Amino acid sequence: MPTIPQADLEQYGEVIDRLVTTPVGKSRGNMFQPMKAVDMYDAARARFGRPLCLLAAEMISERVKRDDNVLILTGSYHPLHFPVGEMDGPPGGATLALSLDLGLGAKPFFANEPPLVGLMEEACRAVGLLPMPYEQAIERDHTAVVVEFPITDHEGSRRAAEELMDRHDFSLVVTTERLGRNRKGRYHSAGGTEREPQDRCKVDHIVDVARERGILTVSVGDGGNEIGFGSIFDETRGIVNWGETCRCPCEDGIVSVVESDALIVAATSNWGISGLEAALAMVNDNQDMMHDAAVERRVLHHLANMGCADGATVMTTPTCDGTPESVSLDVVNLLKATVAQSFRVSSRRF
Ligand SMILES: [Zn+2]
Repeated sequence: MPTIPQADLEQYGEVIDRLVTTPVGKSRGNMFQPMKAVDMYDAARARFGRPLCLLAAEMISERVKRDDNVLILTGSYHPLHFPVGEMDGPPGGATLALSLDLGLGAKPFFANEPPLVGLMEEACRAVGLLPMPYEQAIERDHTAVVVEFPITDHEGSRRAAEELMDRHDFSLVVTTERLGRNRKGRYHSAGGTEREPQDRCKVDHIVDVARERGILTVSVGDGGNEIGFGSIFDETRGIVNWGETCRCPCEDGIVSVVESDALIVAATSNWGISGLEAALAMVNDNQDMMHDAAVERRVLHHLANMGCADGATVMTTPTCDGTPESVSLDVVNLLKATVAQSFRVSSRRF
């Protein structure tokens, strides 16, 4: 339980949200405009009424108990552009898994299309978690489980989601930078084009099933086309490029209809996850729940070396959406410092 007084916690929650929405800017282009994430943040903040990272951290801390299974959904695959995956998403998924392992004693799971299973396993290794089959993972500390989720139609995906939720009693589902369907059941890039159905599994059905079963869902995103933006659907359609209509035949726009119980809007999704970890560290009075720049650097480099590509440049560099590695490390350092400051009490008497 937090030792930081409630009023102070809210203040630091505001600081965290500002840091993760800082419009340092992704590289320019028709997909990315730095202030649009701030506009979406404002819409989400109005909808949820409390600092977004703090609210999500409070909900997670209340719900997740020791030895609970938690499911993290992230990653984007394309056979030509992202054959090994994309840099924004998996690094944050892995650092959050570490945070929930170290701080809450939870067992992190990932569910991915077959081509991304290896990527998520490597992301786990890079942060210090050993991927193992479920039966072994529950017998050993600091492990993670990466399961395959089939690439199939909406009905088959729904059935697979129900089976997965039946098999493992998850208490939390978190999504980060994971595309969600629009009203027409299509998935889109931030540039308004359709992401082909044969290239991705429809894990947004897992979020729907979780919500129906009363399992907590938390989503992190930066583009409006991801799972969770259904919670601010109308506002997001008016903010992002290709919000009202897209460049694919469905013409329904890129904004996802899939809702979550808590939504974190960030300038880059990995930063949103870092903000969530910072808030978890404050709420649980445990600085280990926020990873440091050394871990951030290790996971970014490890995935880039595997061939994971930057979403903006398609280069296999340790950058996210065209933002230099140093900026990601700076954001982590600023968040880490914010957590440390929140624990520090000035002793000066006037
Ligand atoms: Zn479309």
